[in-house]
Amino acid sequence: MNKKNIGFNSKLIHAGGIEDEKGSAVTPIYQTSTFKFKNADQGARFFSGEEKGYIYTRLGNPTIEDLENTLADLENGYAALATASGMAAVNTVYLTLLGQGEHVIGHNALYGPSRGIMEKLYPRFGVEYDFVDCTKIEEIEKVIKPNTKLLYLETPANPTMGITDIAAASALAKKHNITVCVDNTFLSPYLQKPLDLGADIVLHSMTKFINGHADIVGGIIIAKEKEMFDALRYTMTNMGFNMDPHQAYLARRGLKTLAIRIDRAQENAKKIAEFLESHPKVEWVLYPGLKSHPQYELAKKQMEGPGSMISFELKGGLDAGKKVMDNVQLAVLAVSLGGVETLIQHPASMTHSKIPRGERIEAGISDGLVRLSVGIEDVDDLLDDLRQALEKV
Ligand SMILES: *Cc1c(COP(=O)(O)O)cnc(C)c1O
Repeated sequence: MNKKNIGFNSKLIHAGGIEDEKGSAVTPIYQTSTFKFKNADQGARFFSGEEKGYIYTRLGNPTIEDLENTLADLENGYAALATASGMAAVNTVYLTLLGQGEHVIGHNALYGPSRGIMEKLYPRFGVEYDFVDCTKIEEIEKVIKPNTKLLYLETPANPTMGITDIAAASALAKKHNITVCVDNTFLSPYLQKPLDLGADIVLHSMTKFINGHADIVGGIIIAKEKEMFDALRYTMTNMGFNMDPHQAYLARRGLKTLAIRIDRAQENAKKIAEFLESHPKVEWVLYPGLKSHPQYELAKKQMEGPGSMISFELKGGLDAGKKVMDNVQLAVLAVSLGGVETLIQHPASMTHSKIPRGERIEAGISDGLVRLSVGIEDVDDLLDDLRQALEKV
């Protein structure tokens, strides 16, 4: 049986894998910084690339490689690189593709630091940027320059749930020789495969859905082509952005249940989104699975499902939102997302507070927006919890 042709659920369990001398059924943790060579010649062959072998964990490690191979398979990419965090993955992409006098176009409502570092840190190295509403392809086209090297997308975007047409944006980028990177953290390869839609690079914060248990921080980058992968690998290994073997072991373990976790969370999210939308105290709800989402049709076309992230605003704005956040009893008031537990947070004062208010509002992140990452609890308990918290408003 060819493991390349098995289904997604089977791949979650059986993709990757290593030949372990002792016969371990699951990939063990190779908690070592360095590897023994049989003799000096072998060491030389490993370094020259004549023979494949492990040298030093920053450059490669069996536990980490198992996770990388699995994700490359799931995203239909050439190969993957696991990183210490999602931000290490973002920086690997930025540092590989952007240099002095070069230009990046990003979506205006990105994960906070993905935009923040480009505005604060990268100008020191002469990198130019434009953050526009990439959900409108013509807005991207308007800011393309001869020195544009990277189109950096996040869809659905955090926390506006704006959806960018990956195929259309990639086709436009291709015409101008611009590399396309998509942050696929909100959906995971179970619900969206950007490389199949034309992107060149996909990245994730594995802290979220891929690990799924809110107990590690990690990232991954998947490249469609070898040349791009080699360039990204050079940056990652030399900047020291690598993941630790123990972290990789936990991520690989969490990944096994990705599909059943997402199925359940998504089912819960659909019911919660409908409940919120019909609640008299709620002003609006943004969820790609609701017909009221401005890009409902595009979401249906591009995504395998709407996922389990919901943004909403109460009629009483931030004060009312705070009441709900302070009164939930089951949902956890915390940032992050994609874990088995339901989390609630307030982007304007938390995850997106570093973005100046004007830019934040322009990107669609209003003062009263509340973000919900729906978990896999019993949906009736989650509904009861939200109902009683809303009564306090
Ligand atoms: C969390 C997150 C990141 C950053 O990942 P870390 O693991 O926290 O470094 C990047 N993009 C998105 C969409 C995220 O949610």
